[in-house]
Amino acid sequence: MNLVSALVASMALAVFAIQDAGGAKQESKPAPPTFVAPCAKYASGLRQGGNFGAYIDSKGSPFAGSWHLAEDVWLPAGTEVKAIGDGVVRYSDFSPTWTDAKGGVHWNFGNVIVIEHALAPPIDGLDTVCSLYVHLAADRRVKVGDRVTRGQTIGRIGADRSEENGRYPAHLHFGIHRGPYVQIPPAFERELRRAAASEQGLGAGGVVLRGEIAIQLNSETSVLVTTEGSHASILLSLLVGSTAPRDPPPDIMCWCEGYGAKETLDEWLKPSAFLAAHAAR
Ligand SMILES: [Zn+2]
Repeated sequence: MNLVSALVASMALAVFAIQDAGGAKQESKPAPPTFVAPCAKYASGLRQGGNFGAYIDSKGSPFAGSWHLAEDVWLPAGTEVKAIGDGVVRYSDFSPTWTDAKGGVHWNFGNVIVIEHALAPPIDGLDTVCSLYVHLAADRRVKVGDRVTRGQTIGRIGADRSEENGRYPAHLHFGIHRGPYVQIPPAFERELRRAAASEQGLGAGGVVLRGEIAIQLNSETSVLVTTEGSHASILLSLLVGSTAPRDPPPDIMCWCEGYGAKETLDEWLKPSAFLAAHAAR
């Protein structure tokens, strides 16, 4: 065997090896991850279907004019809340409702947990989703960075209108958001572009940007917005929700808000539909 035919032979072997690996891979293709409901009797707790995507028109509501981005699960305080799938805890903290000096009430979330779930193979074209558990009791069982398994108890539904649950009636506000925890939410990006295109421009810290802008993640919690022509830039925080004047707690990513504009709704999956379609058997 000369050198060339040896090379060809080894290449052929290599090709076979690749085909073999490919074939074997296909046979052992992993099944998509499966999920469980965050509470026993989840479906029975959904009044009016859980109000996912409901428009709040009641003038008396602090959320008037926005859409509800999750399902509300009306089960008693103390009901155990479980991780819907394997994942990593990205947020576990308290975000209070507080009253400002003028008496304005700033509604936040109480105790909140966010879990990021890697999806391999992808589901509905997504390789990551996050589950959001809101209005929990103070005894959250997980902390940021913890790996959790499907069905693991992570907390309980908080007491009725208590400080610990953000002064809401006892229920779980449960959402599933598309994509990873750290991201520039598409609705936020649209809002920035719209502002920059407007007459007033996009202003922050004395700098005003107008026209075409470029938006990029600057860190896990901030975005850098620049304009090409002027070399001007502004740094914006992705964190919202906890602006308590005296004792500011850690913040939460802006996509985690419970209510939003209509287009924000597209960033969320309808929880009961997702859970039914990808239920563990
Ligand atoms: Zn809700």
